[in-house]
Amino acid sequence: MPDERPLLMIPGPVEVSPAVLAAFSAPPPSHLSPRLLEAFGSALEGMRRVWLAGPDAQPFVVAGGGTVAMEMAAANLVAPGERALVVNTGYFSDRMAEMLRRHGAEVVEVGAPVGEAPSPPEVAAALDAGPAPFKALFATHVDTSTGVRIDPQPLARLARERGVLSAFDGVCATGGESFEMAAWEADLYLTASQKALGLPAGLALLVASPRALAARATRRRCPPPMYFDFEQWLPVMRAYEERRPSYFSTPATNLVLALEASLGELLAEGMAAVFSRHRRAARALRAAWEALDLAPVPARPELAADTLSALRFPAGVDASLVGRIAQRGVVVAGGLHPAIRSEYFRVGHMGYVTTRPEALLATVDAVAGALADGGAAVDAAAAHEAAAARL
Ligand SMILES: *Cc1c(COP(=O)(O)O)cnc(C)c1O
Repeated sequence: MPDERPLLMIPGPVEVSPAVLAAFSAPPPSHLSPRLLEAFGSALEGMRRVWLAGPDAQPFVVAGGGTVAMEMAAANLVAPGERALVVNTGYFSDRMAEMLRRHGAEVVEVGAPVGEAPSPPEVAAALDAGPAPFKALFATHVDTSTGVRIDPQPLARLARERGVLSAFDGVCATGGESFEMAAWEADLYLTASQKALGLPAGLALLVASPRALAARATRRRCPPPMYFDFEQWLPVMRAYEERRPSYFSTPATNLVLALEASLGELLAEGMAAVFSRHRRAARALRAAWEALDLAPVPARPELAADTLSALRFPAGVDASLVGRIAQRGVVVAGGLHPAIRSEYFRVGHMGYVTTRPEALLATVDAVAGALADGGAAVDAAAAHEAAAARL
């Protein structure tokens, strides 16, 4: 990593690997060129494997971002007037609920205090409450505003047992946190390129189950807006997978080249190894934060994500800490959740940086140094050692 440039440690965009950067930096290919068809086709095949999805699951890659992927999920799974349950763990769950309302869904939310998550029995009770059956359940795998990670598996099972579709926002998780789409029988898992997949920003990515596709297919009378419509994109995705040219709206061609490179790196390492690499980085950083007396926003250890840390400012420290960390060459993020915005900051640790112990240790050193610059009594060496011993 060149040291003239600040180290980017926010929860997206993230640092990218040299191979991803090289692929992205190619002269722009035509969306109909053999090179692009091959990259697109192989990326779609790779997504099924990274998502641990079955052969009948359908990947979609669309220019946009996480919010476009969320909009596609809302628009295709739930028709106006149908009921949707949102398991709310923070800022991005609020966004999902608002989106579903705008698509005409009748939204019920099951929430929890900041830093907590609703339990599976609470979700089950909400699913069973009338007056009518739910069409779909939506949950955020890792809420980027709190660092809270839910366990999607029991929620997917509760939904499946009731014939309800389950959709998970994995924007801060996919490629960093375990998710087994086929084994868990989840119906949709979505992300954006600039988070744990380790690409520049600009792609919306999702994989949908046959049940999710069927939910759209039965909606002849009120189709979703064209850009979000599964049925506009299905022929294009199928053509690309067969290495045939097709067109609905021009894909972000350089990002597709980069996606092929990024998924290739993940699959060469193996998903189990990728997930444990993120777990190891998170454990090392958590040990450092503890040594620095930085309390996590997630209320219980099992709720703490492996892809980012949300850390409360210690007594006597305020949001100026973020600027002091930047002066030491590391960019971290301020608060995002409206209820606690000025009380905490966030450090992203997903993708390429988790393969670089020196980047993680430089982050610990910058945070410790910035705390000391602000007058806090911290043992920077102990924090560094606590992290280094676990990397
Ligand atoms: C970043 C993020 C989004 C939004 O993605 P954009 O690419 O910024 O539109 C949605 N959900 C979660 C959980 C995120 O972390």
